[in-house]
Amino acid sequence: MSSLIPHSTKKHLDNYINLIGDEKTFTYAVLELRFAIEAIVYKQIESYGNKVPQQIIETWQPNKSFKMLCYFDEKANKSLDISLAEGDGSENPKTLSYKSIGSQRVFNIKKLNKMYNTLGNFLHLPSLKSVNTPNYDKNVKVIEKIYTNLNDIVSNGNIHIRGSFVEAKCPYCEKMTILPNSILNEESPQHYKCTNQNCCKLLLGSFNCGNIKLKKVGVQVQCPKCKHSTFIDDSSINSVLTAVELDIQCDGQGCDQRITFRPCNIA
Ligand SMILES: [Zn+2]
Ligand SMILES: [Zn+2]
Repeated sequence: MSSLIPHSTKKHLDNYINLIGDEKTFTYAVLELRFAIEAIVYKQIESYGNKVPQQIIETWQPNKSFKMLCYFDEKANKSLDISLAEGDGSENPKTLSYKSIGSQRVFNIKKLNKMYNTLGNFLHLPSLKSVNTPNYDKNVKVIEKIYTNLNDIVSNGNIHIRGSFVEAKCPYCEKMTILPNSILNEESPQHYKCTNQNCCKLLLGSFNCGNIKLKKVGVQVQCPKCKHSTFIDDSSINSVLTAVELDIQCDGQGCDQRITFRPCNIA
């Protein structure tokens, strides 16, 4: 991720302060808050370095990429204060003297969605349907609240805590794919998507006896000629469901049988 541009959250909040207070520059002030939200999220993602799924980097809407980040790292949406104490392990942890090492201030996903959409609504002309004329004073109050929220994150957060992800080899692309740590605690197999850009295939993942197992998701069909079973993955099945004919060659050795699937209307 070395090519990423450094984002200055503080700069956008300062720009907002300079623009707010004048009705003519209200929209531009709102825009600076939207930029601030984006910069806060991108900065948090940048703190993971290369160890973050590509899909998160490629999602351009900050609320969506943040949601995805929280899926991979359950600590990503927790505002926390971290303190450290020295000891040899024999002491009662409650009696040690702790020194603060920093605070993580991050979004709450629900609030983030609401703030992002509220700001977005101010960046359009009033629709033809709307009957009320924009109320400047009321709108300023709405966005002041958002500013206070963002300012708290920027002023009071000075560290990012990164949870760790786990990796396993994808059976399709044979490359390592990133999985949320939660896979280690799941009792039954769960669906995951390969995080490699050119693959993104659906997988069934489970954790058993200290090993992560990833399996392809799909169906097997038996060839009427050689009786060999050919595997059809989930995305091919989906293409049949969306009315595209699927024609595959049996992959049994030396067999030239073709198997065709057609969408059909049962009703
Ligand atoms: Zn893959
Ligand atoms: Zn065959």
